[in-house]
Amino acid sequence: MTPGHGPARHIVFLGPPGAGKGTQAAELARELGFLHLSTGDLLRAAVTEGNELGRAADGHMRAGRLVPDDLVLAIVRERLARPDAARGFILDGFPRNLAQARALEAFATLELVVSFEIDPRLVVQRLSGRRICPTCGTVYHLDSRPPRVAGRCDRDGSELVQRPDDRAEAVEVRLKVYAEQTAPLLEHYRRLGLLRGVDAAGTPSEVSARLRRLVAGAAPEARSPTERL
Ligand code: ADP
Repeated sequence: MTPGHGPARHIVFLGPPGAGKGTQAAELARELGFLHLSTGDLLRAAVTEGNELGRAADGHMRAGRLVPDDLVLAIVRERLARPDAARGFILDGFPRNLAQARALEAFATLELVVSFEIDPRLVVQRLSGRRICPTCGTVYHLDSRPPRVAGRCDRDGSELVQRPDDRAEAVEVRLKVYAEQTAPLLEHYRRLGLLRGVDAAGTPSEVSARLRRLVAGAAPEARSPTERL
């Protein structure tokens, strides 16, 4: 598609852990019929399955460190080549460093990079209250999005769990990794004219309303690179 016209179809969500990327990406992708590609979810599924990728990724993930680029790139490349990525995609949690961003450029052309802007203190609060359904992946929060029955998934009744990397020690490492390795991508995409900021504070529905406006009108050349909704 011609960049600058109509809604964006090749989108990256960028932002610190706990900014709400996964929740928003799942909802928006469902609405638009796009693929939601979360490298974190794919890696967690591999760990649960106990396959070769999962065994290689497990220790890095528990500690809050990045999984080696070649492993992550292989899954992204494979997933984007499937037919269900053809209508559009939202990449959530990828790329996470400059090497991954450059590698991605060799097999996909991005139209929009959304930066989730949020106070780091809020991030820690969000991560500590986060609970996940191990069966369907639905994300809850003890305060802001509690399940109807305490400790159980609304969709399938599974017992909710806390991600091992949402423990305080791992959160600290993840925030450091974000600041050192992922945050430099903001400047990279700003220079390419692809970056738009979204205020990621507030309720999930407030954030999703802002995002919808941004994605619908994503005409990269038509907006100033720092414009923020
Ligand atoms: P969050 O953004 O909340 O930290 P994710 O689910 O995106 O959570 O990622 C969880 C973990 O999975 C990361 O801490 C890292 O170990 C691994 N991971 C996910 N995506 C990538 C990636 N693109 N490159 C390397 N490691 C990744």
